[in-house]
Amino acid sequence: MFKYYIQKILDILLPQRCLSCGKFSELICDDCLYRLPKESNVYGITTLFSYSDPVIKRALWLLKYKGVRAIVRPLAKVVHERLIEDLSSIMQLSLALSEAPPHSVAKIVLIPVPLSKEREQERGFNQSTLLVEELVRIDCQSFKLHTDVLKKIKNTPSQVSIKNKSERIKNLRGAFALENKEVIKDKIVILLDDITTTGTTLNECAKVLRPAKPRHIIKVALAH
Ligand SMILES: [Zn+2]
Repeated sequence: MFKYYIQKILDILLPQRCLSCGKFSELICDDCLYRLPKESNVYGITTLFSYSDPVIKRALWLLKYKGVRAIVRPLAKVVHERLIEDLSSIMQLSLALSEAPPHSVAKIVLIPVPLSKEREQERGFNQSTLLVEELVRIDCQSFKLHTDVLKKIKNTPSQVSIKNKSERIKNLRGAFALENKEVIKDKIVILLDDITTTGTTLNECAKVLRPAKPRHIIKVALAH
């Protein structure tokens, strides 16, 4: 926790250079941000960036292991633009199919993939929550953060350490729990993770949320 606050102070004090071109700017400047190779969607997951890109690899390392908030800003900007695009078509479809009141009145619920209590305490933050907080900062009209719906109740070994897909599924079985399910009933829910490899974590989380009857679940990963 202490380390995390030190990092937050450093974020504010240190002048920043773009990780890609080196000019003084945000950690990824606008020119480079839109030049980064985009990843196409995999396993029904909205995927933004390619993890094989060295700038993205470095950016995600800063996010995941250092909790550097300054890297969240440029990344969240791209996620936000993409979500607004995807949501407009989903909302039109959803309205056409139902008699329910338009969703423009209800905020879209953003749920970061949770870490176990132990992991989050050890790290001092949840990298996916940092991303969601920034999305809400960009657009509080449309989005609301909820960390009270999905909980990770088992401290499982990291998915990265498991190569076999069926082992990865087994590793997460019973790891997540649903709470306060009324929060997402009939709502559009966006589940966010930082990196997806085989989609196992996001799929498992979506499976746990489904009994609460959300109208739609959109799975999003920053990188694949
Ligand atoms: Zn740049």
